[in-house]
Amino acid sequence: MDIRSQVSMVFHLDKCIGCHTCSIACKNIWTDRKGAEYMWWNNVETKPGTGYPTKWEDQEIYKGGWEKNGDSVSLKGAGKLKGLKNIFHNPNMPSLEDYYEPWAYRYTDLFEAPEGDDQPIGRAVSLITGEPIEIQAGPNWDDDLSGTPDYARQDVNFKHLSKAEQESMFQLERMTFHYLPRICNHCLNPACVGSCPSGALYKRGEDGVVLINQERCRAWRMCVTACPYKKSYYNWNTGKSEKCVLCYPRLESGQAPACMHSCVGRIRYLGVMLYDADRIEAVASCDEAELIDRQMEIYLDPFDPAVIKAAKENGISDSTIVAAQNSPVYKFVKKWRIALPLHPEFRTIPNLFYVLPLLPAMASVSEDGVYDSLSENLLSGVEKLRVPIRYLSSLFAAGNDNKIIEVFKRLHAVRVSRRDTTVKDVTETQLNKVMSEANMDIHEANEIFRLTSLATFEERFVVPAAHREEAIEMLENTGDVKGNTGFGFKMKPERGL
Ligand code: SF4
Ligand code: SF4
Repeated sequence: MDIRSQVSMVFHLDKCIGCHTCSIACKNIWTDRKGAEYMWWNNVETKPGTGYPTKWEDQEIYKGGWEKNGDSVSLKGAGKLKGLKNIFHNPNMPSLEDYYEPWAYRYTDLFEAPEGDDQPIGRAVSLITGEPIEIQAGPNWDDDLSGTPDYARQDVNFKHLSKAEQESMFQLERMTFHYLPRICNHCLNPACVGSCPSGALYKRGEDGVVLINQERCRAWRMCVTACPYKKSYYNWNTGKSEKCVLCYPRLESGQAPACMHSCVGRIRYLGVMLYDADRIEAVASCDEAELIDRQMEIYLDPFDPAVIKAAKENGISDSTIVAAQNSPVYKFVKKWRIALPLHPEFRTIPNLFYVLPLLPAMASVSEDGVYDSLSENLLSGVEKLRVPIRYLSSLFAAGNDNKIIEVFKRLHAVRVSRRDTTVKDVTETQLNKVMSEANMDIHEANEIFRLTSLATFEERFVVPAAHREEAIEMLENTGDVKGNTGFGFKMKPERGL
């Protein structure tokens, strides 16, 4: 057992209101610079939709992530030989059109335009050329439109749905959308780290944050191709790649990352997870159907005396172990099993988890067009969801529908128990049935409700300030540091240069 600690995040999708405050907070701090105009280290997409950059989920186009090769994995489109082949032209790299041409409005025209017959307007000008442009796309172009044909119907996840299932999502009374906030997943098996020929990318020992050493980056841009989430970006001005740093200077001083600190919907939860680095390769290379279960096994019980002992022997501090015991991420992911990783089939073992959006899935409109709020219909069960299970399993469970159903049963049980407490129109038989189907008791349902709806900031953000002295020790004790392959990530020679 090789125990490490990882700072992880949970996003509660039912609570995201798509306000983009998180994206703006991040932009103001980190990417409001020349060469970074088009970058959104934190972005919020509308699903169904094509996302940012366009169709980032389609690895037939971008060749990101790892693919299974027997008992191991290899990079799909980056790495030694594949990378060299594309050194002068990489057809798998997203272009500016795939991101979008960043623009600003010439607001000064509103004040300085000479008097005339027409109202002055602030024209959109390209932040790249400075010339006026006709805006064609943006980082969340489909925002709030519940799926316009050009974007929603192009959603990559639809390729796993039948035509009838796709059509069902666009019937007016069934139409639904949810937001999908995304940052770098600070993966346990980061494809970006494995792809970098210069060894510029590394995973920090003390908290698992994945960073790019700007001094060592040589602009190969392999990480841009390799990251299946497209969360590594190339800065055309500095000639270096950049990515989300999880606001590590803030974390080190005990402050929440800007995206979390500013989140209006309070959808974000940040906490420590203890994991066994010895199991990374086995998890990354397991069969697709097992990916979720195997990833869950890698995170360890922070109350288990054997885990505590091994963690201490590995230099993990008492305060980190206590933080892991109080981690809201551990509760949502391991204890309550209602949060899943995004696209686990990319095999990077991502450390961000999403509580599935139950509301658009379950709310219904009656035949005469009236929003149905009777318990009988509102709580009619997971088999009558508006969103096809297959769509969500393509997003969050590598196509394993059962995982989505398990989560929905548990979320549904929490909702029924709250209905019983507040509206009191649920029969005892109804309540007992959903609770037993979800394998949940009232105490657990109340706990989930509390952390979802009433939690204080201190309950949502449980991370000890970093121990810099430990970081240095772990750095010295890690054999593969010279190759800068990251801690807890056992690199095979063929995975990089
Ligand atoms: S999500 Fe982040 S850590 Fe994972 S591969 Fe992409 S850039 Fe690397
Ligand atoms: S700030 Fe929070 S609620 Fe608003 S879009 Fe971002 S994640 Fe969603």
